[in-house]
Amino acid sequence: MEEIHKGGCGAVRFRATGHPRRVSLCSCSWCRKRTGSLLSVSVYFGKEQVELLSNELKTHRLKSDAGRWIECQFCMQCGSALTWTLEFLPDYRGIAGGAFDDPAFIRPERYVYSQNKPGWLQIDEGINRCPTMPDNPNQ
Ligand SMILES: [Zn+2]
Repeated sequence: MEEIHKGGCGAVRFRATGHPRRVSLCSCSWCRKRTGSLLSVSVYFGKEQVELLSNELKTHRLKSDAGRWIECQFCMQCGSALTWTLEFLPDYRGIAGGAFDDPAFIRPERYVYSQNKPGWLQIDEGINRCPTMPDNPNQ
């Protein structure tokens, strides 16, 4: 049976089919600013797995802490940053973990920019830590 993961904000809905290819926690400066939190939960699917059910998104291009481009799409109604594409992973589409209606399927496997981890935050030993952005997406 095929997994279907739905989500969105008030105005924009999306649907991701199948299992995510990559799930990361991240404490880079962009993730901290876009979420207003100290780390993000980023769920990556292949582009072909994701369907946007509304076009109310605006694209903003910026530069990552590693100097690569990020194209972030946010809702023009409420401002939620819902999805993005990275130069690092051009065939993938990132989705904000908190935007899924039911986030129970989300299992992070790595923590990127763990050098910015707050001292009080405990991260499970099974989650691979990368102090900054790895050079190779397979790390
Ligand atoms: Zn980040």
